[in-house]
Amino acid sequence: ILAPHLTLNDGNRIPQLGLGVFLVEPDEAERIVSDAFEVGYRHIDTARIYKNEEGVGRAIASSGLSRDELYITTKLWNSDQGADTARGALEASLERLGLDYVDLYLIHWPAPKYGKHVESWEALVALKEAGLAKSIGVSNFMQSHLEDIDKATGVVPVVNQIELHPAFQQRELRSFQEPRGTLTEAWGPLGQGKYELAELAGLAEIAERHGKSVQQVAIRWHIQEGIIVFPKTTKRERMVENADVFDFELSADEMATIAAVDQGLRVGAHPENTD
Ligand code: NAD
Repeated sequence: ILAPHLTLNDGNRIPQLGLGVFLVEPDEAERIVSDAFEVGYRHIDTARIYKNEEGVGRAIASSGLSRDELYITTKLWNSDQGADTARGALEASLERLGLDYVDLYLIHWPAPKYGKHVESWEALVALKEAGLAKSIGVSNFMQSHLEDIDKATGVVPVVNQIELHPAFQQRELRSFQEPRGTLTEAWGPLGQGKYELAELAGLAEIAERHGKSVQQVAIRWHIQEGIIVFPKTTKRERMVENADVFDFELSADEMATIAAVDQGLRVGAHPENTD
């Protein structure tokens, strides 16, 4: 796929579309990620807690693609947060992935129970300096958590990966983080299949007008909003479908129609309650 790239605040570039592998079974990950590479995906979003980094690594090793063509993200799990533990956690992820560095390393959740998000961020700053991660960012951070790490380090995360889909657009948090140089990555961009996109007012009509599925319209909406997006599927034909979003454009009216379906509908966990 010729997905466009966005430039991060540290100068590195990220493909705006990728494949997420949350809930991909460990023994299926190699096949699924290999399919994605064949289809043309180059950006994979995984995490320690998904328990499939080894399968992702096998797919990378057998792909024949050069390292600099790929964009690989993984994440620091909550119980590994801390000044003394973050480096070991990333080294273990790299070992499983068979890589010398990841393109992007994220703190997975602020995890208030541990109270370690600031020291973990300081550790990630050092991991970037050591070259183990080309870029560093966060996930599920609320405004207060972003302020905490900025105050401590002055290093602004390149992205904040947050739940975001048409019924939950996160306008307030985005308008805080984006002007500070933090791009938004969407998780659950299709609402994790927990509601029907086609039931949102106007979505089915927009899809029909463009000869696309409502999922393609949702993905295209993310792209035009400047959001980085990696819908998850295990099916090759859906990988093709989800990437086939660069031959049409939503009009300003259609973007406004989608903006109007936001209803603050969180389908996943709340960052304050997740430990
Ligand atoms: P998603 O919104 O991508 O939805 C996935 C669901 O949509 C699956 O059930 C799939 O079968 C279905 N689907 C995919 N393509 C479809 C299509 N074309 N037509 C119909 N149905 C389709 O949800 P997700 O997997 O939770 O989110 C994407 C990625 O975000 C994850 O894989 C993971 O990498 C990341 N994520 C991160 C966090 C975090 O805390 N940082 C949390 C959840 C997910």
